[in-house]
Amino acid sequence: MEMQPLASRQEERITEDAPTDRLITWTLERFENQRMIMTTSFGMEGCALIDMYARHGRPVTVVYLDTMFFFPETYALRDRISEWYPHLDFVNRGTTLTPEQQAAEYGAELWKHDSDKCCHLRKVDPMYDVMANVDVWITGLRRSQSATRANLRIVDWDWRYQVLKISPLAAWERPQIWEYIQKNNVPYNELHEKGYPTLGCTHCTKPVPGSTPGDYSRDGRWSGTGKLECGLHDGAGI
Ligand code: SF4
Repeated sequence: MEMQPLASRQEERITEDAPTDRLITWTLERFENQRMIMTTSFGMEGCALIDMYARHGRPVTVVYLDTMFFFPETYALRDRISEWYPHLDFVNRGTTLTPEQQAAEYGAELWKHDSDKCCHLRKVDPMYDVMANVDVWITGLRRSQSATRANLRIVDWDWRYQVLKISPLAAWERPQIWEYIQKNNVPYNELHEKGYPTLGCTHCTKPVPGSTPGDYSRDGRWSGTGKLECGLHDGAGI
């Protein structure tokens, strides 16, 4: 194997406190020849991160897991954002298990009596299939989104999926994200203006009274059940 000269390795050095755009440039250059994807659930953070990568003009693959339970507004945003960034490749790798098949096999309204099973079938299991062919995984997670994400590192090894996981927005706060979206005219989900801080499945996502787009809360997700994460991020799910 041909070793890279030490001097150029040193030039490539990056630290956790590097500016976000530097981190993004670094991922694009450092992992240019790796199988790198970004995942999104079309929440506000994901939209901002898509825009930040799109500005570099490189053909990034953006994977989403359509649970077949997205809000109509989320499907509309998916269509809008894929037209907005034609050089990015938006790929659905969601489950092929239809809601009808799930009901027949696991019972009606599985999300009500076993939401962990439902999330595994519709999110976690499909993600294993995605990650089987991925080396580097870019996410829009932030540390302040929840206690389970408080220790999120910008660059980390994901033991569950056995990939390098990069979260360039780890240190960002929601008001900054909202400011970025507005300033850069980034497409976003109109439900954020109707009290939804985050977007998930219709069955498990409710508006949070008084919430504005600049506010972040996970109170609307699986509310009243004690469940905090879907399991995609091994303790820090989207
Ligand atoms: S968020 Fe709800 S409906 Fe969606 S996969 Fe999980 S339990 Fe099922």
